[in-house]
Amino acid sequence: MREFAYARARDVDSAVALVADNPGARYLGGGTNLVDLMKLGVERPDLLVDVTGLPLDEVSEDDGGGLRVGAEVRNSDLAAHPLVRHRYPMLSEALLSAASGQLRNVATTGGNLMQRTRCGYFTDPAKACNKRVPGSGCPAIEGLHQNLAILGASDHCVATHPSDLAVALAALDARVLVHDLAGPREVPLDDFYRPVGDRPDREVNIRDGTLVTGIVLPPPVAGRSHYRKVRERASYAFAIGSVAALLAIEADRVSEVRIALGAVASHPWRARVAERSVHGGPATAAAFEVAAEAELDAARPLRDNAYKVPLIRDLIVAVLTELAGR
Ligand SMILES: Cc1cc2nc3c(=O)[nH]c(=O)nc-3n(C[C@H](O)[C@H](O)[C@H](O)COP(=O)(O)OP(=O)(O)OC[C@H]3O[C@@H](n4cnc5c(N)ncnc54)[C@H](O)[C@@H]3O)c2cc1C
Ligand code: SF4
Repeated sequence: MREFAYARARDVDSAVALVADNPGARYLGGGTNLVDLMKLGVERPDLLVDVTGLPLDEVSEDDGGGLRVGAEVRNSDLAAHPLVRHRYPMLSEALLSAASGQLRNVATTGGNLMQRTRCGYFTDPAKACNKRVPGSGCPAIEGLHQNLAILGASDHCVATHPSDLAVALAALDARVLVHDLAGPREVPLDDFYRPVGDRPDREVNIRDGTLVTGIVLPPPVAGRSHYRKVRERASYAFAIGSVAALLAIEADRVSEVRIALGAVASHPWRARVAERSVHGGPATAAAFEVAAEAELDAARPLRDNAYKVPLIRDLIVAVLTELAGR
């Protein structure tokens, strides 16, 4: 392993001062993604700024009736938090579906949102990859792409974002709290991740070296919610498709619906076409199927991942039908 320096940040401003404008520096959360990438030679920082000691490790009530979650709250603590379990059960479910108990005990909220894709070409420095080395090509398009994107991809990259947490946050309209040299600001989760376009290496709409300091969850909306994840084995595996959904019914009509999809795009995919189709209509499996088909009209699968289209369609229908019947 290459030599690198380590610093433990004492406060947000000094953490940002060390990393912003320093391309060789990285924030270190739980290290469950970054240290792996360093071992593989994908990441080669010369300075790690450990942010786990920052006072960003609490879940607290927000003035607006929602919750504020510090970026250093561990995934297991967030999943187990009584207010999260009670008010945002799908968030708890998403977190608990991810990784393993040991990993969740160290993985942080900020690190989870900023984790990198698991595309096998990205994690192999011997291979070309536009996300790792811009302009070098995307071997996944002709090569191994069974688990990769069917929505919103480009000719430059077809990778998916691996986070389960981010999918639930997309459905909850969460906001990401960030801090750079200009100070703090909020970014709606919808705008946080960039569409892949021709710059797959630029994944987020924040400047390099920006610290994620937390998330804000808006007040819970009435309705039932659920996160369901499909994976190759029952636990300890990334999603090949997932759905975070919320449904409320009044007078036999859908009065509120939120749907976000995971493992289908370079970012959590908010299924707004399906939401518009379902909203105001009957809460029936037939209506949900029409909505899912409409959303997936935009799907552009590759040679070996077309299976994801019916998988996601069925997942949307199954989750909404279950919520309607609960
Ligand atoms: C075997 C295995 C299985 C897994 N399975 C799943 C799964 O099923 N679902 C899932 O969602 N995840 C899964 N994960 C990923 C895991 O959830 C992430 O590795 C973890 O959430 C990252 O958090 P961390 O705190 O360890 O981040 P780190 O590894 O410390 O950092 C990750 C990235 O975020 C940056 N960063 C860290 N903190 C901040 C911050 N506050 N502000 C800005 N940038 C920051 C780092 O510089 C780095 O680039 C798995 C991981 C492993 C190793
Ligand atoms: S899909 Fe994206 S991450 Fe994977 S090889 Fe292509 S450019 Fe790299």
